[in-house]
Amino acid sequence: MNNEKNYNYLLSDLTKLRGVGNKIAGLLKRKKINTIFDLLWKLPKSYIDRSISSHIIDLKIGEIQTINIVPYKYNFPRIRNLPNRVLCKDKTGKLDCIFFNSYEGYIKKILPIGKEITISGKIGFYKNKYQITNPKYISEDSSIIKTKHNQYSLTEGITEKIYNKIIKQIIKDLPKLDEWHNKKILKNFNYISWYDSINELHKPENVGKYKSDFYERLAFDEIFSSFLVHSEIRKKIKRIKKKRKSFHFEDQKKLVSNLKFSLTKDQNKALKEINQDLISNQKMFRLLQGDVGSGKTIVALISALNVINSGFQVAFMAPTEILARQHFLLAKDLFKTSIKIDLLSSKSEYKEKKRILNDLKYNKINFIFGTHSIFQKKIQFENLGLIIIDEQHKFGVNQRKKLSDKGGVNCDVLLMSATPIPRTLTMTIYGDMDISIIKEKPKSRKEVKTYTKLDSKIDDVIKFVKKEIRNDNQIFWVCPLIEESKKIDHASAINKFKYLNNIFPNKVALLHGKTDQEEKELILNNFLNKKYDILVSTTIIEVGIDFPNANIIIIENANKFGLSQLHQLRGRVGRGNKQSNCILMFKSSLTEIAKKRLQILKNTNDGFKISEEDMKLRGYGDILGFKQSGLKTFKLADPILNQNLFNLAEKEIKRIENDNEDISKFKTLMKLYDQADVINDIV
Ligand code: ADP
Ligand code: MG
Repeated sequence: MNNEKNYNYLLSDLTKLRGVGNKIAGLLKRKKINTIFDLLWKLPKSYIDRSISSHIIDLKIGEIQTINIVPYKYNFPRIRNLPNRVLCKDKTGKLDCIFFNSYEGYIKKILPIGKEITISGKIGFYKNKYQITNPKYISEDSSIIKTKHNQYSLTEGITEKIYNKIIKQIIKDLPKLDEWHNKKILKNFNYISWYDSINELHKPENVGKYKSDFYERLAFDEIFSSFLVHSEIRKKIKRIKKKRKSFHFEDQKKLVSNLKFSLTKDQNKALKEINQDLISNQKMFRLLQGDVGSGKTIVALISALNVINSGFQVAFMAPTEILARQHFLLAKDLFKTSIKIDLLSSKSEYKEKKRILNDLKYNKINFIFGTHSIFQKKIQFENLGLIIIDEQHKFGVNQRKKLSDKGGVNCDVLLMSATPIPRTLTMTIYGDMDISIIKEKPKSRKEVKTYTKLDSKIDDVIKFVKKEIRNDNQIFWVCPLIEESKKIDHASAINKFKYLNNIFPNKVALLHGKTDQEEKELILNNFLNKKYDILVSTTIIEVGIDFPNANIIIIENANKFGLSQLHQLRGRVGRGNKQSNCILMFKSSLTEIAKKRLQILKNTNDGFKISEEDMKLRGYGDILGFKQSGLKTFKLADPILNQNLFNLAEKEIKRIENDNEDISKFKTLMKLYDQADVINDIV
């Protein structure tokens, strides 16, 4: 097939290009440019127009100019540090070409005496004469020089000239791929082809034309391809036929009626969606997304109850030991003795671990809690029916797919994420999963009051803290995050600890990036048990832990954080019934823009709204957890600018799914755009 040959060319190694050897290929590889296709996204930033030539008499000093000159004399001083000089002229005047560190032979070759040569470079003026120092654009063939030369952001060791040369070469040899989109889709982009779009994309005069047909078509290709891969994964998972879970809703009802609160509408809705998945014969692969404190845990635990009542085992995986223990204790309290529950901890003794492993194997444990350790190879379940994973927004598509395979055919998967993100991003990151969203917070919850304070007013803050401690409350004190240096981070936390410990002797604990895991858990446990009043830390406190008694969070240097991150930090308080406060501290007075930003935070507690605003203000790369989400970064597509394209792609994918359309025509597209392993068994 012709297309196959074509995409093989695009996916081939860079050394296939003329003028690219192992050295340049190696440098580009370091920038994650591995194939010819990858280089297509190396775009010019701007260009220098060397097409218009001038005469020496008209030269403008300090500007890049192009002239035709004739060399008439060499001046090679043969003294160290003195440059080689070639004296040149045209009808109107004289100009010297100056060379530092160039061989005479080379100079003679590029500037032969008596020949007309085109040269371009920045014009200098020295001792009453024009000169060009170390000129790079020299040729007897004026057409090579007299064009627009693209400027690229440079990789170390690769010059502009090399980029121009290799990218020009790729564009010249660009294959005409068969169209993969239908007419209706193409109409949105005035029917421009992929080939023409790439050509337009690389024209320097098109830099920044994000709203043009060629740009949108290419951005759409990217989005569509990634959604299509998701869709295929989802279909594949759905094709797995599992044993239906069957249970009576009586137990669920009993448990819910015994709770100290009633479930919110969104919690009930999520629960219904999950139960529907459980009783169907299709494997569940679902994300439960909800802001911090929206009450995901109880939903997960009720689902677990139903699965256990159908005779299956359930595994609950938390990111840390302390969180696993907290969930474990909650479940034990909730389910009393009717269900066998255990915690697999790295601290358990060898004998205890052995017993747990054995019990899991023979279905004597119904419900196991732990960290990722519960998915070690040596752990066998007799009858695993559900895996619940808490706070794992850092899983990529590949890892998620592996996870879904791991539990076996009959095992459903429920992922929980506390990162509210805009819808375009949810589609992009979690498109392979079904999604339940909890937007509404429990009604009893008091909103966290948010204040701003200048650093110079720290005495007021201390006064406030003293009062709160007298009322038996606890305080998180988050120290400045200084991106450039982890060391400074850590020093500022230590300094703050010393300062506070002076005022509140023996009542302050300290956590920072260098505290080891075991010590960290000990400190958190002690804080949980009210041994300390204040916990000073960098931003490392776990998201999911419930500290019902901590109701104040103080965040220093708050302007260093994005809105979503501030919201996430703020979510560490306000989980109990007390009034909670968040104090944002600043080194200097706020600008108008900063004030506006913070107003959003003060006005709403809705994480989804905040992340939407945050994305508009800072771009999607900065949204919390996005970079670590394992999501491939788009080359052109932007979830803010191209929201319409995301929606169009979503609609088209749904249509393809509903019509059960053959997707083999998208093979080239997926091969090129999603070179991830996940597609190997799809296309
Ligand atoms: P998250 O969604 O961040 O994991 P949790 O599940 O830890 O939140 O819930 C936070 C707190 O809210 C817990 O103490 C939980 O008992 C409580 N909670 C959960 N659902 C409700 C509800 N419907 N009404 C009142 N409190 C609730
Ligand atoms: Mg949680």
